[in-house]
Amino acid sequence: MPTFLAEDLSVLASGKPLLWGNPALKQASMQPSLQQALEFAPQVSRERILDAQLRMQRFAPLLARLFSELQPSDGRISSALIPAPRLQSALGLAREQGQLLVKCDHSLPVAGSVKARGGFHEVLEFAERLALRHGLLQPTDDYSLLAESPARKLFSGYRVAVGSTGNLGMAIGVIAAALGFEAIVHMSAEAKQWKKDRLRKRGVTVVEHSGDYAQAVEAGRQAALHDPNTHFVDDERSLSLMLGYAQAGQELKTQLGSAGIAVDAEHPLFVYLPCGVGGAPAGISVGIKQALGPHAHCIFAEPTQAPCFVLRMLQPEGEPMSIYDIGLSNQTEADGLAVPRASELAVGVMRPLLSAAYTVQDQDLFDALLLARDTEDLRLEPSAAAGLLGPLALTGSDAGRDWLTRMDIQRHLPQATHVAWTTGGSLVPDEQYAAFLAKGYRTNT
Ligand SMILES: *Cc1c(COP(=O)(O)O)cnc(C)c1O
Repeated sequence: MPTFLAEDLSVLASGKPLLWGNPALKQASMQPSLQQALEFAPQVSRERILDAQLRMQRFAPLLARLFSELQPSDGRISSALIPAPRLQSALGLAREQGQLLVKCDHSLPVAGSVKARGGFHEVLEFAERLALRHGLLQPTDDYSLLAESPARKLFSGYRVAVGSTGNLGMAIGVIAAALGFEAIVHMSAEAKQWKKDRLRKRGVTVVEHSGDYAQAVEAGRQAALHDPNTHFVDDERSLSLMLGYAQAGQELKTQLGSAGIAVDAEHPLFVYLPCGVGGAPAGISVGIKQALGPHAHCIFAEPTQAPCFVLRMLQPEGEPMSIYDIGLSNQTEADGLAVPRASELAVGVMRPLLSAAYTVQDQDLFDALLLARDTEDLRLEPSAAAGLLGPLALTGSDAGRDWLTRMDIQRHLPQATHVAWTTGGSLVPDEQYAAFLAKGYRTNT
């Protein structure tokens, strides 16, 4: 279907919002192929996700000791799943189109964003490996001993580095510094000043780059290459990050179960995930598909000026293009999503698993951010508001309705569940947050 691709590509290049259904999705009626699709991502297997989950459990006592805000949860990192009826009606999503829930990763402890899932896991895995190798830890030990001086002394001889538009740097920087590592964060031009200040206050070295996210990552990767004592968290290629994100699938399954919400052919689930390089939403999606099966549909959201993931899905062959190649700017207030080229790992994993993707304009992000505050008192950053626009993009656009009909889901919408994944925002300083809200009012008053 080359003409289909060409049409979508021209809409994408025009910077207009679009909703795109993935023709390569392995569907519910193709159970064996869904299994194949999951096995197609053998790196993110069920066993490895479970492994990562057990690792986080082993580290929970240490995390509770290092961060007082994790004491109430005994060191567990998780977020609430909440019904959002007032936001649903403010967004204009009729009850006959399903029920809106919000998965509150914007309030994940310590990091204030989805990056707490992947970023923490990778740094903890590195710390565990070092401590085991140096005989400071037995697998059955209480890991809180890693807060004591022999381990801290060991960690202080190592560096953890990362390239980031902001939030990943915050998560990695905070956890690495708390363990006693030297932490270096390469920030791209989009990174907000307050994020740099916050990290520097915690003793993290922040290297500022005038280039975009891809350049910041490359600079960090190169710097780390020449230093055997540096662990570089590679947001474009890291499996450990993805496994950290993937644990969210089981968490969501448990929460839906407690709420008495079924996921099956008559009760489809749509999960709307803001997408930057693709690692976080892809990891979460694999976890969701593993835990909840083919009737859980994962749908990615990107800014109209930085739709790198959809672009690569539309252009599967050849060298990966960047969004600059089709005339887009990467300019967006959704700094967490301002990425010119998608992760090839994430694209490979998602090709058979992604149901759909859509793009959003910044103004719509600000409006949704404001509505989320006014109706449910959620404190979001612009990137995190992208998921809120999904249910309407899917049920209210011609392209979305066509897709729903083609998939034979349209008739089940009244029993559908829509989960908007709010990926960040609780740590945004008041002044910044007020500026976001003010931008929302512009069209609402
Ligand atoms: C990082 C981030 C995302 C997307 O994650 P990727 O792995 O870059 O796709 C979404 N929202 C927020 C707030 C983020 O910080």
